[in-house]
Amino acid sequence: PNTGPASGLETAARAAFERARDDQSGELATYIPELARVVPDRFGIALAGVDGHVLGVGDVEVPFTIQSISKALAYCIALEALGRDKVLAHVGVEPSGDAFNAIVFDALSNRPFNPMVNAGAITVSGLLAEAFGAEAFDVVLDRFSAAAGRRLVMDETVFRSEAQTGHRNRGIAHLLKCAGALGADVDDAVDLYFRQCSILVTATDLAVMGATLANIGENPLTGSAVFAVEAVRNTLSVMFTCGMYDFAGNWAFDVGVPAKSGVGGGILGVVNRQLGIGTYSPRLDAKGNSVRGIAAFRDLTEEMGLHVFDPT
Ligand code: GLU
Repeated sequence: PNTGPASGLETAARAAFERARDDQSGELATYIPELARVVPDRFGIALAGVDGHVLGVGDVEVPFTIQSISKALAYCIALEALGRDKVLAHVGVEPSGDAFNAIVFDALSNRPFNPMVNAGAITVSGLLAEAFGAEAFDVVLDRFSAAAGRRLVMDETVFRSEAQTGHRNRGIAHLLKCAGALGADVDDAVDLYFRQCSILVTATDLAVMGATLANIGENPLTGSAVFAVEAVRNTLSVMFTCGMYDFAGNWAFDVGVPAKSGVGGGILGVVNRQLGIGTYSPRLDAKGNSVRGIAAFRDLTEEMGLHVFDPT
């Protein structure tokens, strides 16, 4: 990647990093041993512009599992592959305000509220599993890789742990099947979901993926067309309203950029038509969001006027 000249952004990223770096609050995710074992102090902030410039501060090349950030990208793939109407028939676009792993569906439509909660994400994985059959994970991995601009791999050990301990997600999938929201086989849907959550990324990867979305689907580093414009627009809308678990409203208010976080400690943010932002810091707050990641986003967006409704 190009590393641009020192810019206002680089100064702002450094300042945000310095301000947040000593904050040790929050806890690692512990629901599987692999996540409980990561080095808690890792912290990185990466930025990628739609002009192809990439910069990073701190641990921006440390791999971690993408976890729930995969939900946004998988949704984008499903929208493109199956069309908006088919996807909407299975998963809504309404923020639920419930925790990510809530076992509630929209009572009126019997659909999961949105694709950023587990119920919705498992339904989306089910749609992809049905559409692509045995190739589904390869399709997902290829597209994630194209968005990141390099070949990504899955962490087998994390995948096995997710699959062995994911009783709640399996339970949700069975209820979805029972409600008629999930067309695919339960095992196929959760298998793809656990695999996509176990893809390894770095903060830099998240920034480049974000820049691909900011650049309406074309990876600005490689020039390859990764996602269709319409699917990107719909995905960013849902990230804006539902991307940060049950903190999404506060996030839209304070930070004001579409984003998605994961319990691996990553946050991917998109400054539309300008910038992708990726942060990594594995200590999480009570809602499952990275503590220093949130602090860094708050600082950066405030300092650089990146909130979608900022006047400049
Ligand atoms: N694999 C995790 C789960 O579904 C992902 C959770 C997350 O990142 O929010 O429980």
